[in-house]
Amino acid sequence: MPHLGVDAWGSYDEHGNVAPKNTEDEQRASNERAQVAEVFGLTGGELMDVAWVPTYERNITNTLTATGEVVFTYWHQGVPDYLEGPEWHPTDAIFRTVCEDEMFGYVPQIVTGDEGTWRVVARYRNSGETECPGRSAEPGSANAIPATAETCPLCDADLMAGESHGYIYIGDGWAEIVYRLEEIQRATPTVAGCWVDGHWGQYAIAHMVEKAQDWGYADAEVIDIATRHLATIGPSEAPQITDDEHQALSDASDEVEAWLNEHVAPEGFSFGWWEGEFFLNSDAQWAEAYGE
Ligand SMILES: [Zn+2]
Repeated sequence: MPHLGVDAWGSYDEHGNVAPKNTEDEQRASNERAQVAEVFGLTGGELMDVAWVPTYERNITNTLTATGEVVFTYWHQGVPDYLEGPEWHPTDAIFRTVCEDEMFGYVPQIVTGDEGTWRVVARYRNSGETECPGRSAEPGSANAIPATAETCPLCDADLMAGESHGYIYIGDGWAEIVYRLEEIQRATPTVAGCWVDGHWGQYAIAHMVEKAQDWGYADAEVIDIATRHLATIGPSEAPQITDDEHQALSDASDEVEAWLNEHVAPEGFSFGWWEGEFFLNSDAQWAEAYGE
């Protein structure tokens, strides 16, 4: 299987991180990320930091297909906020939304990741344009563009020349494309054992949520709290989560465990906490642990 480091959708390293080549590229990538977030109204931290890199089948000739990888740099869990109908918020379906420039081709209709097979179920075109928040930002507010910037990183206004902020424009072909997980991949007994070991301490539940997310768990609110809690580990300036959020995370533990048992645990195995650690154990191992 060809492992493509670069394809039509971008370049990335072996961890799926989009890999800028130098600081100028880094700056451009970070500006584009900020622009995409503004244009799609995803400025609340919804966009995932790490690219989603599933595989897809492509036709080389009529009889020959190959597996390629697609790099979704901008994506988030769940569906866009404006989709409010019950069909978009069922308890038994998992969605991911990618923001892509489809000017030169549609994203693959079907892609496959560790979680299973995903299929495009909806596509919403975007104007690719929005007002720069610099236009209405109070000086010094979170939205304010750094006073030292010579040009606005969002709308390109020449601030040195006294130009005022205008509109952000990322191009004509952008869309939000919603994928739905067709079938969640169950774990196999080979991954049984300790999933969250004791050294995670106060971050154990957040790490459990992170692991569950790898297998398709998609409660955006819980994932958001867990992600922000994990971001405070070590030398970090990320703000601590609130007491209410600690409580919400702790309350979510049972729900996440139940979800993993329903969707991921192989036959004859189940997930559970044991002395501060989280395990996937066989029924026999649990019986032994509980001295039955
Ligand atoms: Zn601007």
